[in-house]
Amino acid sequence: MISSAELAGSLFIVAAPSGAGKSTLVNALLAQEPNIRLSISFTTRQPRPGEENGREYHFTSAEDFLERRAKGEFLESAEVHGNYYGTSRILIENAMRQGTDVLLEIDWQGAQQVRKQFPGAVGIFILPPSIQALEERLNKRGTDEPHVITRRLLAAGGEIAHSPEFEYVIINEDFGTALSELSAIVKSARCRFQQQAARNADLFAQLGIHASPN
Ligand code: 5GP
Repeated sequence: MISSAELAGSLFIVAAPSGAGKSTLVNALLAQEPNIRLSISFTTRQPRPGEENGREYHFTSAEDFLERRAKGEFLESAEVHGNYYGTSRILIENAMRQGTDVLLEIDWQGAQQVRKQFPGAVGIFILPPSIQALEERLNKRGTDEPHVITRRLLAAGGEIAHSPEFEYVIINEDFGTALSELSAIVKSARCRFQQQAARNADLFAQLGIHASPN
């Protein structure tokens, strides 16, 4: 465990119901901001066509997942839509110690677990512009079976019910607007006192600024 005072990097948690356009938004953000590291989760779900092991996820068996979880390898883990998902602890802690910002694309259960360990984590929830838009996007994706789509739509209400636990909300109606809002949140988080002080320790010392306000 690392104390929040050590952290020069910011930790972003991005959550959304399936079909809100979260991954597309996040990928566009990462293309603009190469200094953010996307955490690649472990999952027991089957890869979708076009997905690659180690790129979208580390795909693994339930047995391996549970073994890793028992060993404490995950910062958080949850069962989502009938599969296990988990975030590697070591990867996140190392990146943040080095001052690298990290972005987690996880569900509300994982977000709750991460917030307990990193109270300074920045929570961002992506909402669709309407329930119809959500349904259309899920159908258009065409990579999931109909029963999987139904399951995800039913779960969307449950995920959305947890949106008040997040600090920021982005309504993904116009992609460009949503992306610039996401980018603005990232930029403002980087200017928080603690992150600036940790990143610019020499300057702060030279100017006689003490990182702690008291
Ligand atoms: P998908 O199967 O569509 O890639 O993801 C399904 C859901 O699982 C999404 O809400 C996604 O954010 C969530 N998810 C992905 N990785 C993780 C993880 O490591 N931990 C948790 N708690 N949720 C995850």
